[in-house]
Amino acid sequence: MARIGFIGLGNMGGGMAANLAKGGHDVRAFDLSQDALDKAKAAGCLPVESAAAAAEGAEAIVTMLPAGKHVAQVYEESLFGAARPGTLLLDCSTIDVGTAKKVAEAASAKGLPAVDAPVSGGIAAAAAGTLTFMVGGPADAFARAEPILKLMGKAVIHAGGSGAGQAAKICNNMLLGATMVATCEAFLLAKSLGLDPQTFFDISSVSSGQCWSMTSYCPLPGVGPETPADRDYQGGFAAGLMLKDLKLAVQAASDANASVPMGAEAMALYQAFANGGHTGLDFSGIIRMLGGEQ
Ligand code: NAD
Repeated sequence: MARIGFIGLGNMGGGMAANLAKGGHDVRAFDLSQDALDKAKAAGCLPVESAAAAAEGAEAIVTMLPAGKHVAQVYEESLFGAARPGTLLLDCSTIDVGTAKKVAEAASAKGLPAVDAPVSGGIAAAAAGTLTFMVGGPADAFARAEPILKLMGKAVIHAGGSGAGQAAKICNNMLLGATMVATCEAFLLAKSLGLDPQTFFDISSVSSGQCWSMTSYCPLPGVGPETPADRDYQGGFAAGLMLKDLKLAVQAASDANASVPMGAEAMALYQAFANGGHTGLDFSGIIRMLGGEQ
């Protein structure tokens, strides 16, 4: 059993911290929200009063925070002062590649090995311990991170050096955003051409247009497996988070002088969907906007 600090007990972090506690670790948990702290306590973690308190005496510290600025702030203002040398830092938040590299470098300079370890899989996978982790960082840090991450996920993959986990994450989600938009368009066009949506699903899901957005996350209610579309687009992966990831991908592409016209178009469409006030809806709900609904 190891002492593990866990900072950021929101929709994702709450379930992840609970799985570390279930795995037998002594989890010192912190969040700005009292409600999140209460839930972590009920799940077997020990709530503490600050991020620094979560770091004290820990062998490893996991962060699951909204964005790069939160991670940089917690690292600089709390962890660097409170963590003992050798403590492993695992940032599982989805953040920009530049900040991920910067905080890992700063951590390493303080004798704190660090990995970026963003996840694929939503709130249900976080609770069930079936996330996929894509990890960036040195091999020895990855070797220490792997058994911890395995308690929270079904797959833990070493993507490369610092920032490589974030790079894999935003490329994956750019692909997901683009295929979701394309899947929605295909269903809407099929309907306009007089095809029954279920018939189109039956054909396309076993043809070359097949993709995860269609077969596992179909944006039309009543077609394919049960998805957020069947719950009026509630729950699932929020459109606002998809927009965040697409922005990270397009920014990273610009920084790397790479061309991502489909990613940029998906970002513009999700921005329009967000402007319509739909950031909280599941990202497959964009089919409504593409179909002409407000
Ligand atoms: P969330 O908003 O539910 O949780 C974030 C938590 O961080 C909140 O409880 C907040 O109070 C806490 N927090 C913020 N600043 C803090 C600070 N300084 N100290 C301590 N706690 C602080 O977000 P989430 O859905 O859990 O997502 C977390 C990360 O995981 C994000 O980077 C997101 O992009 C990524 N992600 C989310 C999903 C998803 O489906 N929700 C899927 C994959 C990845």
